Amino acid sequence: MHTTQDPHALPDGTIETDALIIGAGPVGLFQVFELGLLEIKAHVVDSLPCPGGQCIELYPDKPIYDIPALPVCSGRELTERLLKQIEPMGAVFHLGQEVTQVRRPDEKTNDRFFVETSQGTRFHAKTIFVAGGVGSFQPRALKLDGLDKHHDTQVFYRVKDAARFAGQRLLVVGGGDAALDWALHFAQPGPNRAASVVLLHRRDSFTAAPASVAKMKALCDAGEMQFIVGQATGIEQEWGRLTGIEVTGSDAQTHVLPLDALLVFFGLSPKLGPIADWGLALERKQVVVNTATFETNVPGIFAVGDVNTYPGKKKLILSGFHEAALAAFGAAAHVFPDKPVHLQYTTTSSRLHKLLGVASPTLD
Ligand SMILES: Cc1cc2nc3c(=O)[nH]c(=O)nc-3n(C[C@H](O)[C@H](O)[C@H](O)COP(=O)(O)OP(=O)(O)OC[C@H]3O[C@@H](n4cnc5c(N)ncnc54)[C@H](O)[C@@H]3O)c2cc1C
Repeated sequence: MHTTQDPHALPDGTIETDALIIGAGPVGLFQVFELGLLEIKAHVVDSLPCPGGQCIELYPDKPIYDIPALPVCSGRELTERLLKQIEPMGAVFHLGQEVTQVRRPDEKTNDRFFVETSQGTRFHAKTIFVAGGVGSFQPRALKLDGLDKHHDTQVFYRVKDAARFAGQRLLVVGGGDAALDWALHFAQPGPNRAASVVLLHRRDSFTAAPASVAKMKALCDAGEMQFIVGQATGIEQEWGRLTGIEVTGSDAQTHVLPLDALLVFFGLSPKLGPIADWGLALERKQVVVNTATFETNVPGIFAVGDVNTYPGKKKLILSGFHEAALAAFGAAAHVFPDKPVHLQYTTTSSRLHKLLGVASPTLD
């Protein structure tokens, strides 16, 4: 998605907001909705390039059976439905950037927190919602001496622009869905077809969908791509360019695979990361909250979803949704300190209908 120019940005580009949500997983997304019902607009930051958190990164096509009133839906469908539901609330998303700094209000920021992301986006936020789940997802790196310096020129952990690999000699490493999907994508006829595709995995069994594995084997039989069981153990370079990867096979023999680009898909590992440095009380790497408002030990900072802990906590999407509702009411006391906030039903409140952009039913 996008980063949109904000009309509330200060002259130096800092964005003023009533609420900043850190994490666009299912709970961060529903937080947008609950804040919206209380007329609090939110900005949302996520380190991933698209919203959905674990539902999209870890199990987009697996069925979920315990979302109330949705007997079954996939991780992707849940995310799409949440995005549709929060559309009227007009949240602004800042994706592909990690929140690195959160500072308490000082004289300069008045009554607002100062927040900065890895891309240098800055906010002054009245309230903060940490919906960081199990942390920000980072790709697991392939660790070979000298490989790092080719990152983003010849070594990639994500495919942002598939067209740039067309006509290249590709080495794809990994045995999960991402590795198989991209190997198949580049090996098959189409505008992005590579000159050659080699899939390298340390064993002959995969966590990817069986249909993708079958397709990969068929393409290997047809000579359209190659699959090698082995491990990358070193690199070859010439004039500062990566020219090949040393691969040690199951027979303990090492040979060099020449390449133009290396695509590594070892999965994502969650890291609590900078959240641990913001002065929030933690218990076993989780943020301690009170269960009346889901506020942390820092007034104005709330924590919802998998990232928080309290007696009886269960890491379920459903629990996160409940937490988001109460946290929104907790935040309203900070954003509108002089205004009483009443609970209203979406069924009957014409004010909420206006916020949701739906027509109020006429009373018979
Ligand atoms: C395989 C699997 C199956 C599951 N099945 C179910 C099920 O059937 N039912 C159920 O209720 N639950 C299920 N769960 C659990 C459920 O997915 C989680 O409870 C839910 O995703 C938590 O949502 P969340 O929004 O709190 O966090 P997450 O989904 O983890 O999202 C957090 C987001 O915050 C971002 N983030 C973190 N730190 C930062 C930072 N500093 N800056 C920017 N972004 C940051 C991350 O990138 C991530 O996108 C399952 C989990 C797994 C792994």
